[in-house]
Amino acid sequence: GFITLEGGEGTGKSTQARRLVDRIRGLGLDAVATREPGGSPRAELIRDALLSGAVKPLGPVAEAMMFAAARIDHLDVTIRPALARGAFVVCDRFADSTRVYQGALEGVDAGLLAGLERVAVGPTMPDLTLVLDLDVAIGLARARARRGAGAADRFEREADGFHEGLRRAFLENAEREPERCLVVDASGDADAIAETLWLIARARFPA
Ligand code: C5P
Repeated sequence: GFITLEGGEGTGKSTQARRLVDRIRGLGLDAVATREPGGSPRAELIRDALLSGAVKPLGPVAEAMMFAAARIDHLDVTIRPALARGAFVVCDRFADSTRVYQGALEGVDAGLLAGLERVAVGPTMPDLTLVLDLDVAIGLARARARRGAGAADRFEREADGFHEGLRRAFLENAEREPERCLVVDASGDADAIAETLWLIARARFPA
């Protein structure tokens, strides 16, 4: 089973991905935790280039291509081999983040992104995508607490409405594929959310 976690900043994706993997392993099953951008040594190099801002001057289309290049390697090196041996793969961000960040927010043409997705991902779309949904102010406060107080980080420098747009775009994207994408209220405490995600995953992948 291939499970992805998606959502805006501070929604708890990384924590919940880790916890979900721990629960799956607790059943004695093989599970791999991974993330995007990144998830393989070469894709992590591309991640560094993307997050450092080094690619930014090339523009959003080139950035989208770099995300796709990283995804190709991540799938080849990490995801498909794990799925092929019967492991669960739990990935913190995946193709839906590209649709939302590069598509809805950066304005890259949806047809181009669909083409890149088809080439990079092919048939390896997630079986289940958990979209963590959270009030923007709460998410930003959580992200800020995690990063420590001090200079505004790159998220807080985003224009007004960026994070609201992000939230809306994740919800709209999820609505288009309701069989794959489940929206989960991420406003509770981490234990309660972990329990909810576990129940959903168990129902989707009956042992
Ligand atoms: O989830 P994480 O904080 O590690 O993601 C790093 C950042 O990369 C995100 O906050 C987002 O700004 C950016 N990103 C992006 N497009 C993607 C995936 C991530 O711009 N497709």
